[in-house]
Amino acid sequence: MNLHEYQGKDILSSFGVRIQRGQVAQSPQEAVAAARQLTEETGTSWYVIKAQVHAGGRGKGGGVKLAKSLKEVEEIASQIIGMNLITPQTSAEGKKVHQVLIAEDVYYPGESEPDEYYMSVLLNREEGKNMIMYSTEGGMDIETVAEETPQLIFTELVDPVLGLLPFQARRVAFNLGLSGQAFKEMVRFVMSLYTAYAKSDATLFEINPVLKTSDNKILAVDSKVTIDDNALFRHKDYVEMRDIREENPFEVEAKEVGLNYVDLDGNVGCMVNGAGLAMATMDLIKQAGGEPANFLDVGGTADAARVEAAFRIILKDPNVKAILVNIFGGIVRCDRVAQGIVDAYKNMGDSINVPIIVRLQGTNADIAKELIDNSGLDVQSAVEFQEAADKVQAVVS
Ligand code: GDP
Ligand code: MN
Repeated sequence: MNLHEYQGKDILSSFGVRIQRGQVAQSPQEAVAAARQLTEETGTSWYVIKAQVHAGGRGKGGGVKLAKSLKEVEEIASQIIGMNLITPQTSAEGKKVHQVLIAEDVYYPGESEPDEYYMSVLLNREEGKNMIMYSTEGGMDIETVAEETPQLIFTELVDPVLGLLPFQARRVAFNLGLSGQAFKEMVRFVMSLYTAYAKSDATLFEINPVLKTSDNKILAVDSKVTIDDNALFRHKDYVEMRDIREENPFEVEAKEVGLNYVDLDGNVGCMVNGAGLAMATMDLIKQAGGEPANFLDVGGTADAARVEAAFRIILKDPNVKAILVNIFGGIVRCDRVAQGIVDAYKNMGDSINVPIIVRLQGTNADIAKELIDNSGLDVQSAVEFQEAADKVQAVVS
């Protein structure tokens, strides 16, 4: 589950990480009230207005702006709230902005170039460890840094059992070229950032930029946080942070009925049991000259209700020209699945307007094939993988 910048900052703050302070607002009026309150609390008279969407690169897209008065706060907030923000990380249509973060300006004017760093904590699956990735090149795209100046990116592997050891945090501060008070601040920053990551069961905490102020304070100016969905059961307060407006509506619906679904750009919908078979099926579709419209694992119980729910979600995508059902009957019986498909099809009547190719293999596959072939519906059966591929090809070409 991804979080908004302001939610990530709230979590950071709760673990003692110093952050650029701010308050979220849904309307220009709320924005002005938030700015007033911020001035009372921090003394700031300049503010940054930041679009809250699940995408980075907001600065480049015009979603982060400086306001030098309450009047400007109101003007900029009314520009940004409701806009379609297009950034290098969104689709071409962009993302609708529902809320903004009003934050204190922490880049004091008239200063020499502020020092910005990049820092993230993430899971390194290959090493089976957590990893701190950091760089002196903050504020810019880390992918660009990795491409052009990879020597400026450092990593620190952290054993999840031992946690981050103080000498490791000191090494981070040292590699960032810090000394004196800023060095001490950075050590504290890294230690508490790692604690936040570990205690919140996150898979990613990315802070870009981390800022060193002229008075040597280290603080998080941005935050990108992903919490491990499988750990959400022990973080009821984070579950409430979920903003489904930011998620793909098909995927939200699929999740509600317990289907493992990922929306893709292609023209052949697929319904498969098992993630491995789903990946192989997507390859099959590509080889047949089509493009998968989705990844969909219906899991172990491919009964009529689930099959129907899956069909309905797949068919919401207007690009879908055909659906390939590829089921291996190991635990589940193929004839049961075939009956499920036939029942779902009949139930849905005219709403199925694309050809369906069904490959059922495994227990009772022959009975299943008969069921499909005798159903009188626009469903083609296939037994072999190649046969299914050929039938897909005939439809998409
Ligand atoms: P992103 O573009 O989505 O990564 O959003 P960020 O939160 O990183 O903000 C983008 C840029 O806005 C930062 O890299 C900073 O250069 C700038 N910025 C953020 N906060 C402030 C601030 O308090 N004052 C000023 N002047 N600039 C800021
Ligand atoms: Mn950023």
